[in-house]
Amino acid sequence: MPRAFITGITGQDGQHLAEFLHGKGYDVFGMVKGQNNPRVAGLIEEMPWVETVSGDLADLPSLVAALEFVQPDEVYNLGAISFVALSFTQPELTANITGLGVLRMLEAIRMVGGTYNNPIRFYQASSSEMFGKVRETPQTELTPFHPRSPYGAAKVFGHDITVNYRESYGLYACSGILFNHEGPRRGLEFVTRKVTNAVARIKLGLQHELVMGTLDTKRDWGYAGDYVKAMWLMLQQDQPEDFVIATGETQTVRTLVERSFAEVGIEDWERYVRRDPKFDRPAEVDLLIGDSTKARTKLGWEPEVDFDSLIKMMVANDLALESAKSARRLGG
Ligand code: NAP
Repeated sequence: MPRAFITGITGQDGQHLAEFLHGKGYDVFGMVKGQNNPRVAGLIEEMPWVETVSGDLADLPSLVAALEFVQPDEVYNLGAISFVALSFTQPELTANITGLGVLRMLEAIRMVGGTYNNPIRFYQASSSEMFGKVRETPQTELTPFHPRSPYGAAKVFGHDITVNYRESYGLYACSGILFNHEGPRRGLEFVTRKVTNAVARIKLGLQHELVMGTLDTKRDWGYAGDYVKAMWLMLQQDQPEDFVIATGETQTVRTLVERSFAEVGIEDWERYVRRDPKFDRPAEVDLLIGDSTKARTKLGWEPEVDFDSLIKMMVANDLALESAKSARRLGG
């Protein structure tokens, strides 16, 4: 059976990817950080077939030891400080994990698998945030980067060093430039989930308002379950290459809020939403929209879940989750 090693297994994409690869017959190994990581118990309960391996993207020896133990065919580097807002308050940590962490993983692959004709295939989780203050619309694999956050800047380093190791050492290393992708597993700190969860709680009478930053920001939102398939497809090609993965449609945060409230039958949503500039970023990324023609043509990849279905799925999940929590509280 092929063996896959995933960093960031406790995150949204890590879990979707683990499920997808398990379905394809892979032995799945996931790196977990910390001596008592609170997210690991839930992961093992949901996916008992994942073998966890201790390691941290800040610690090269742990990455080497993990690779020596796992002997993977494919490495998916999804671990990162991934929340843009946090990257402004903890920029050095972000540079170290989201940026230098990629270099450490590539070095570990070189050390364990040799250099030229290294058999390990590597996927790097690059991001549309690298485009930042966009130079052209829509954005493709050839659009120049102009990151607007420490997160975006760290991702640019991770992206460039992946390309550099491919060209310098002949590593099979690919970078997926993924636009925003969401789903019920999205962390509550991210705007889509913050909105769908608040809408569910407001509907259930558990919360009275939703406090937001700007509603004008535009994003190209897809479904995480569709996007992890693209990661795998990239590593099945004869030659390693980089691909933009996006839906090609963009929506404002205002539309996200409006559609989420409409899902629970609330039309006068403005009554519940308060604007607070504390959520504004020091530098904003106003508009992202990706052109994934290359992925559609070469990988045969297509997104299956559209924006409306995504919102429906996330609101339904949050309603079920919050109702169950509420019932547990009432029950005792
Ligand atoms: P996520 O839910 O925030 O997960 C991030 C993961 O990184 C968690 O499992 C976290 O582990 C792990 N991590 C944090 N610090 C680490 C460290 N020092 N060493 C090892 N692992 C560490 O992110 P996601 O949405 O799944 O995204 C996956 C990857 O794709 C990330 O690199 C993200 O930047 C990138 N990306 C995401 C999107 C998107 O829209 N979701 C778009 C483009 C690119 P613990 O929490 O257990 O510590």
